[in-house]
Amino acid sequence: MHAGVEAIPSLDRLLRDEALVAPLSQFGRDEVTRALRAHLDALRACARANALDAAQLANAAIAAAITGDLQRRHRANLRAVFNLTGTVLHTNLGRSPLPEAAVAAVVHAMRAPVNLEFDLDAGKRGDRDALVADLLRELTGAEAVTVVNNNAAAVLLLLNTLAHRREVIVSRGELVEIGGSFRIPDVMRSAGAKLIEVGTTNRTHLGDYADAIGARSALLMRVHASNYAISGFTHSVELGELATLARERRLPVAVDLGSGSLLDLSQFGLPREPTVRETIRAGADLVTFSGDKLLGGPQAGIVAGRADLIARLKKNPLKRALRVDKMTLAALEAVLALYRAPDTLAERLTMLRLLTRPAPAVAAQATRLLPALQHAVGDAYTVASTAMASQIGSGALPIDTLPSHGFAIRPAIRKSGVLSRLETVFRALPRPVLGRLGEKALWLDLRCLEELDEAEFVAQLVGLRG
Ligand SMILES: *Cc1c(COP(=O)(O)O)cnc(C)c1O
Repeated sequence: MHAGVEAIPSLDRLLRDEALVAPLSQFGRDEVTRALRAHLDALRACARANALDAAQLANAAIAAAITGDLQRRHRANLRAVFNLTGTVLHTNLGRSPLPEAAVAAVVHAMRAPVNLEFDLDAGKRGDRDALVADLLRELTGAEAVTVVNNNAAAVLLLLNTLAHRREVIVSRGELVEIGGSFRIPDVMRSAGAKLIEVGTTNRTHLGDYADAIGARSALLMRVHASNYAISGFTHSVELGELATLARERRLPVAVDLGSGSLLDLSQFGLPREPTVRETIRAGADLVTFSGDKLLGGPQAGIVAGRADLIARLKKNPLKRALRVDKMTLAALEAVLALYRAPDTLAERLTMLRLLTRPAPAVAAQATRLLPALQHAVGDAYTVASTAMASQIGSGALPIDTLPSHGFAIRPAIRKSGVLSRLETVFRALPRPVLGRLGEKALWLDLRCLEELDEAEFVAQLVGLRG
């Protein structure tokens, strides 16, 4: 039944109504008034267009409408999502989720004053790196460590400290760009160091490095090729050989490992990555790596290696600008502590738990979820349970994939725009579901949907209807 403008309730009456008590207490008088004004304006416009339905005028209907508006307006910008993209360490999705132990440690560090830079034994000023130094030394075999904001910062600090206005020798095969605009030549320039490229893209020999060493040389550097692989007619110098050359010529060798595994991941059935310990043992004087890639911790950059060089890094004023806060250190300490018990790591460290989920378990989950998903998307789409391959992501092990399982959702009738509309609807759910569009399907890889989150995933599927 159509209603006229005169039937629309007044703002004052609504503000006093029972139906508005809940939104008033949640959002406050100013916000509710603003939302009501806007909603009543919209209702008046409807009435003038002869399109106002009497049901829209019930106080409860008005309250529900503005509560929805206010919830959307007050929703946090940073929200939890379901990462069903198939990339486990997804840089755009915050890389590694943190394990419960780290979450609890961060909460503690936020609530109360902490001994961030206070030595409780000596009763005097301390060093924030000391909070994680023992653990990191134990886990990497390094003499000393320092922690900064991310691995890009670690490389910047290292180059600026050891090679400012001097030369750094790097193989042409390692001049990589990592996602998010980290390029070795650019970082080199920002650090005030001069890049000396040696060898060719596919082949670099020890002699290439030796020939490039001169009076202005400060450092030999290796960069882990992270997100690509060179195959075929290739040659690169063993780190041990490079370290021997460096020692003869009295230069340090630095290795940017990128991911920086602390353990040999092949023991968990994952592809092998060089570990920090091996890299140091093979002769690297300094190694840099990320906290939130294969380490499974918070965003951070770690430099591990020779004590005299680390001491120089720590004296550089840039270190002060790049340092990490107490929340990062709290999370990092808790994550590193999990590594002391490697036998329970695959269960406790979220990143490793996700990477090691066996494909049959993921497939069983797909079977469980298929009916609910098919029902939710309706008969305009067909949902097929299918095997797929997850990627580790963040430049780790670019060519190795992990067998996984998930859904391919296709429109029942081929029509342009239908699939991208579905992707948009998934993205607009209360906890957005992010998949991958391609080959005329929307792909949802279930590897990162932990069983703990399954109920929440299913519950919000009703939002897809219509
Ligand atoms: C990922 C990566 C970086 C950048 O590390 P962030 O922690 O993202 O700053 C640098 N070097 C290599 C080799 C990498 O793989």
